[in-house]
Amino acid sequence: MKIIDLLKSDKVTVSFEVFPPKSEANYESIYNAAMNVAALKPAYMSVTYGAGGSTSKSTLDIAGDIQKRYDVCTIAHLTCAGADKDDIHKSLDGMKTKGIENILALRGDIPKDYDGDPFAHYRYASELISEIKEYAGDSFCIGGACYPEGHVDAANKKEDIGNLKKKIEAGCEFLTTQMFFDNNIYYNFLYRIREQGIVVPVVPGIMPITRATQVANALKLSGSNMPERFRNLVDHFGTNPAAMQQAGIAYATDQIIDLIANGINHIHVYSMNKPEVAAGIQKNLSEIIK
Ligand code: FAD
Repeated sequence: MKIIDLLKSDKVTVSFEVFPPKSEANYESIYNAAMNVAALKPAYMSVTYGAGGSTSKSTLDIAGDIQKRYDVCTIAHLTCAGADKDDIHKSLDGMKTKGIENILALRGDIPKDYDGDPFAHYRYASELISEIKEYAGDSFCIGGACYPEGHVDAANKKEDIGNLKKKIEAGCEFLTTQMFFDNNIYYNFLYRIREQGIVVPVVPGIMPITRATQVANALKLSGSNMPERFRNLVDHFGTNPAAMQQAGIAYATDQIIDLIANGINHIHVYSMNKPEVAAGIQKNLSEIIK
């Protein structure tokens, strides 16, 4: 199934994200956690790609297994920083072999210890998208990332939206947002990109924060300030793991319900190999996504 067909439908959908194991040491536990998320049968699942291509094979293995074992459609992330033409072609061939029809095409984060020029072959996600189109034609549905609060490397939000437009022109059919904790940030972003002529579906990415230790990294990634309401929640429940998990799931659910109530039908949850968190959100939305 091509995800763009689902995103064009009026049905309300919730999708989940998992990451592949980075080493053999924890392969089984991470793999099993990803499969337990798949067993919840979300609308689709995305499988991330380790920085610098470090999880290339396991990304495809996990995405392929989810489709085979649970009949849940997957989208495999693919990054181009540090990759050359041959690496990309091999990944695309691997996806075809495993029946993966959807790609989230990304520039990728650069590993801290990366030796050499990560942009020797591709500098931007739009160049990866052009490469996919050139090699595989329209075989894949291609999605991309966007940043409601601006990407860290962009001089300003206006320039970032201009660059986003180039990504769409290269063949990106839909976008998934970086996490945000205040829905107004998403609504404002949507308004600004629509004004610039970007009309593709923009799936909001919601990250349930279920541990106080996640906060610093989440803020770094989203580039945002934590809303006061969320800060109070972390301050109050952060030292009680079970209460923090419950509160984090409730906060994410609240964001999702507000989005759906405002006509946003497709939601992506950064469930990150936590089946209990994904199940908690699904349960809270059971009547809404029926
Ligand atoms: P791009 O779209 O290439 O943009 C990067 C920067 O370059 C931006 O500042 C943009 O404004 C600028 N730019 C783009 N095009 C041009 C142009 N033509 N001229 C000048 N400037 C330009 N990382 C991973 O390593 N693995 C993953 O699995 C992964 N999954 C992600 C999923 C989502 C939904 C999101 C939001 C991010 C994910 N990331 C992942 C992180 C991502 O790789 C980084 O944020 C990376 O720094 C940017 O990737 P991009 O594809 O958005 O880059």
